Amino acid sequence: MTHLADKGQPPGRPDAAGVPALAAHEAAVAEIRQAYAAIPAGRPVRLAKPTSNLFRFRGESAGATLDVSAFDHVLHVDPEARTAVVGGMTTYEHLADATLAHGLMPMVVPQLKTITLGGAVSGLGIESTSLRSGMPHESVLEMEILTGDGRVITAAPGGEHDALYGGFPNSYGTLGYALSLTIELEPVAPYVHLRHFRFESPEDCMAAVAQIAAEGSFAGHRADFLDGVMFSLDELYLTVGAFSDIAPWRSDYTGSQIFYQSIRGPREDFLTIRDYLWRWDTDWFWCSRPFGVQNPVVRQLWPRRYRRSDVYRKLVAFDRRHHVSAMLNARRGAAAQEDVIQDVEIPVDRGADFLRFFAARVGMSPVWLCPLRLRGERTWPLYPMRPGQVYVNVGFWGTVALPAGAEPGHYNRQIEDAVSDLGGHKGLYSTSFYSPEDFWARYNGPEYAVLKRDYDAAGRLADLYDKCVRGQ
Ligand SMILES: Cc1cc2nc3c(=O)[nH]c(=O)nc-3n(C[C@H](O)[C@H](O)[C@H](O)COP(=O)(O)OP(=O)(O)OC[C@H]3O[C@@H](n4cnc5c(N)ncnc54)[C@H](O)[C@@H]3O)c2cc1C
Repeated sequence: MTHLADKGQPPGRPDAAGVPALAAHEAAVAEIRQAYAAIPAGRPVRLAKPTSNLFRFRGESAGATLDVSAFDHVLHVDPEARTAVVGGMTTYEHLADATLAHGLMPMVVPQLKTITLGGAVSGLGIESTSLRSGMPHESVLEMEILTGDGRVITAAPGGEHDALYGGFPNSYGTLGYALSLTIELEPVAPYVHLRHFRFESPEDCMAAVAQIAAEGSFAGHRADFLDGVMFSLDELYLTVGAFSDIAPWRSDYTGSQIFYQSIRGPREDFLTIRDYLWRWDTDWFWCSRPFGVQNPVVRQLWPRRYRRSDVYRKLVAFDRRHHVSAMLNARRGAAAQEDVIQDVEIPVDRGADFLRFFAARVGMSPVWLCPLRLRGERTWPLYPMRPGQVYVNVGFWGTVALPAGAEPGHYNRQIEDAVSDLGGHKGLYSTSFYSPEDFWARYNGPEYAVLKRDYDAAGRLADLYDKCVRGQ
């Protein structure tokens, strides 16, 4: 792999144990490059992956597919340098297992097991370490990318392809595909000690987030991890987690207990680090509810190995492709439903305004809260967040009954307007309704046009607007 070998002794450089995996990787890179070149110009390209966490279902089966199964491997972990070289389509489940074996984890591990490193970097990821460690792309040291124009290049900060390194986050596979990434890791303790703090207004909750951002702890509890849940405007929780070498007990939320419900229970909890990382996966946050899996009887019958976010996501994808629930709904004469499945980032001082707007206009509950802040001073042109600013990611995933005669996107459009009015941003993994002008104003059209010209001049990959808004 030339990009690693070229550089003398980069942090992720393989030792002898990593060499066979790297040789296989190099062969896979050559193969995918050929396969890409063989796709006729003008034919849409998409990744053939067994899993996805996107929430846009149109077009998933169209176009030529690129087999990327060879890129779901951790190529090398360097425990001394605390780095890993990782195939671009490696799921975080595989990545975390490989690094936890060395007492290390990626700086940010998104909550769903089948989110991949490349997906989280090109599509933005967050988790409860994001207040400390920013977003997954901020701990990428270099990336090997198959560009839209068919080259394989190495993008690293300060290098020849620095602009692509900076513009890759939020490009959603429209400039190229990451084939391998060298990432930083951090040491872990065996357990996480959780404390759940209740707040009776969004204002109090957001004030506590700001305090934790300033002090790194809350009520004497170190905030190695921080996220929260709003059940209603007078019932919000922040869960503050600290690495711990000891655990007086260990909870298990892969069995009969359900993590999000535990937040309202005893104020203190302990999980192994692995169980902590996947605490939201078993019930896809709370989205397993419509499948009945939270009913104790159904839960007992539902095999444990199928209590996973990717299983529920596949069931939803089937439903959306075949319009099963929409037809049943129509037959019952019930109101049509709109999918309201989004993650938005709001500056912390406007967070309470957004939560009040959301409760009044959309009314879906629960809602996930995840504070974040850029890790460094570098900014990322396609997703303009301000260095030093604390944001709160608000995540909501469900359907809401449409009022009679409402336009498609009735709720989503109001959310887009509120996010803009409050100085926030919206992730693009789900539906979007922006006009081209609004979209490019928010996601830096001029910079994107330069990157598209330099790395995919013939437009072999879809354009970001066409992909994320028009669903192509
Ligand atoms: C209910 C729900 C909750 C979510 N919650 C969170 C959350 O809490 N935290 C979080 O971080 N994210 C969350 N996400 C969003 C998720 O991280 C993004 O959708 C992410 O892009 C999914 O990545 P994936 O690996 O599954 O990729 P896919 O779904 O397969 O692909 C996503 C996009 O990235 C592109 N892509 C995939 N791999 C690469 C690559 N190697 N190089 C370049 N482009 C690539 C694809 O072309 C596609 O456009 C959530 C999504 C849903 C639906």
